[in-house]
Amino acid sequence: MKSMIAQKYIVVGAGLFGATVAERLSRKHQVLVIEKRAHIAGNVYSHFDPETGIEVHDFGSHIFHTEFDEVYEYLSNFTEFNDYIHTVNTRHAGKLYPMPINLDTINLLYGTDLSAEEAEKFVKEEAEKTGIKDPKNFEEKGLSLVGEKLYTAFLKNYTKKQWNTDPKNLDAAILSRIPVRYSHNNRYFIDAKYQGIPKEGYTKMVENMLSSENIEVRLNTTFKDIESSISPDATVIYTGPVDELLDYKFGVLPYRSLRFEEERVENSDQKEAVINEADLDVPYTRTHNYKYYQVHRPEIVDQPTSILCHEYPADFEQGGEAYYPVNNDESEALYQKYLAEVKTAYPNLVLGGRLGAYRYWDMDVCVKTALALSRTL
Ligand SMILES: Cc1cc2nc3c(=O)[nH]c(=O)nc-3n(C[C@H](O)[C@H](O)[C@H](O)COP(=O)(O)OP(=O)(O)OC[C@H]3O[C@@H](n4cnc5c(N)ncnc54)[C@H](O)[C@@H]3O)c2cc1C
Repeated sequence: MKSMIAQKYIVVGAGLFGATVAERLSRKHQVLVIEKRAHIAGNVYSHFDPETGIEVHDFGSHIFHTEFDEVYEYLSNFTEFNDYIHTVNTRHAGKLYPMPINLDTINLLYGTDLSAEEAEKFVKEEAEKTGIKDPKNFEEKGLSLVGEKLYTAFLKNYTKKQWNTDPKNLDAAILSRIPVRYSHNNRYFIDAKYQGIPKEGYTKMVENMLSSENIEVRLNTTFKDIESSISPDATVIYTGPVDELLDYKFGVLPYRSLRFEEERVENSDQKEAVINEADLDVPYTRTHNYKYYQVHRPEIVDQPTSILCHEYPADFEQGGEAYYPVNNDESEALYQKYLAEVKTAYPNLVLGGRLGAYRYWDMDVCVKTALALSRTL
């Protein structure tokens, strides 16, 4: 006979959400964390390249940023953050432009020297010129917000690549606003009170979160592997996809996926962490030069070698890597159907994490939500 799992709390998924809940619970309880991958840290997992010491973000570039004191203070128990400040340039027709659009972006694109007030009036006039009052799709919304030239340069083709469809086929609601700054401020996360990269890397931060002797971590283990050994009075915190949990009985929740291609380059021209690629002739959407995140390690930044990573948008298939949920009325209805079914099928299971919630969450929202949930358990 199979022996039952002794722990009262079982956390499925060793990502940031699962690690936060496990760490909080471990103050008072024994916790079992199971993880289907061969490593902890979920999508914030990174490793250090042994030759160069460069931190490679295996599931895409991650920059910690938050306005929440609670989250910053909590994570600071497990890592120190460096002083990296995120800025992004977008390449269009061979030239680099600050993103989000600011005064410099506008003047560079139009070849003008407008002041902040002049630029604001100018963009408003450009938007009005399109004559679109009631935008019916993404493209019309974009045009109605910033006018033809800014939209075509920075949004049209980038969006086409991201979604693999013409922006005319996308919902107008996807684009609630386009941030345009009438100043020279080029900080990507303009509202972030705190930002930075864990000095010893993301994986080490999560390892520290899971280091309590009250936590047992089992890698290469799926929920289905242990399901029959869970005692009826145990509580399961499940941070995986809800459609998979229920064997996709109502269909697959839609996502967009990504594919990453890395190359080792000597003396790269890219002297910054991220460049967005706005044009269609470049098939990827972003190029990451990881070493520029390690601002606390000048010997890493200053070495001639870079590890560049090209990020390609990709279609998602059942069981593949789910990155960005495609949230619309249809997928929300499907998600709600799964939620109702989970309540009946698994009364002792609490859904959590970005996959369980079927939402895009930045790391800080993920940790904040996990802290709030932990207080209720
Ligand atoms: C490309 C990209 C870039 C991002 N960049 C940033 C950024 O710069 N800044 C920022 O703040 N946020 C960023 N994020 C968001 C960040 O990745 C998430 O907030 C965070 O990873 C969510 O953690 P999680 O624990 O909810 O999910 P995950 O990290 O996905 O963890 C879930 C874990 O559960 C495991 N699991 C799933 N199902 C099962 C099962 N059945 N059995 C066992 N284990 C299972 C998975 O293997 C995984 O390890 C980015 C996201 C993406 C997609």
